Amino acid sequence: MLIDTHAHLTDPVYHGAREIIDNMETDGIERIVCVGYNEFSSAYAVKIAEENAKVYAAVGVHPSDAPKVGQGYLGMLRELTQSDKCVALGEIGLDYHYDDTDKRAQHRVLTEQLELARQVKLPAMFHVRDAYGDFYEIVRRYRDCLPAGAIMHCFSGSRETALQYVDMGFYISFSGSITFKNSRAGEIIAALPMDRILIETDCPYLAPMPHRGETNYPRYVRYQAEKIAEVRGMGVEEVIEITRQNAYRALPKLDGVL
Ligand SMILES: [Zn+2]
Repeated sequence: MLIDTHAHLTDPVYHGAREIIDNMETDGIERIVCVGYNEFSSAYAVKIAEENAKVYAAVGVHPSDAPKVGQGYLGMLRELTQSDKCVALGEIGLDYHYDDTDKRAQHRVLTEQLELARQVKLPAMFHVRDAYGDFYEIVRRYRDCLPAGAIMHCFSGSRETALQYVDMGFYISFSGSITFKNSRAGEIIAALPMDRILIETDCPYLAPMPHRGETNYPRYVRYQAEKIAEVRGMGVEEVIEITRQNAYRALPKLDGVL
């Protein structure tokens, strides 16, 4: 069975995600981690998780939302992490993609959440885009804040960068972008230890080929398994089983059978 370790079921395009959740069994999906990116979506993710046995939540403030964060956000996140269904702190990180990036706010909100990860002993789920240098410096400095490890979500860096994070004990998670024609992910996938690889959709964004440009769904996570199987010369079912076990190791509160 598949595990989608990073999905945004809170997105309005899914209208509450009832249909996705009801079809999980039929679609061969064992678990979905619904990921927050600000205060509202984090609370909503925990609510969906608490109402649905096979859905779990991650809570956090995305770097693009960092400048807008409210004063009491850390206390609110801390409270949400107390839910049995909250498996990670995320998505958090750095994103310098846009010109108007408020780097100072991003650094502050990231490091505050790293401190929180240390206190609540949850793994971090990192979003990093066009900021791998600065991010690496911060994570190295705050390494003690990650006793439960971390996941590099929707990884888009180089092979060297991926291996640096594997050395730090992190997992590398791949989204539908690895199926795109111009993707250079093949050489990264080929170089990683199989026990560090996760798959995700980041839906509703980044639908894999042949659905590129459409709304993405958790069931499309299978395309990522197929791509990895192709690169590694393995069977798809074998990749699905290995990434499933990896997800339970990376996110112990996900509560599955290894
Ligand atoms: Zn995401």
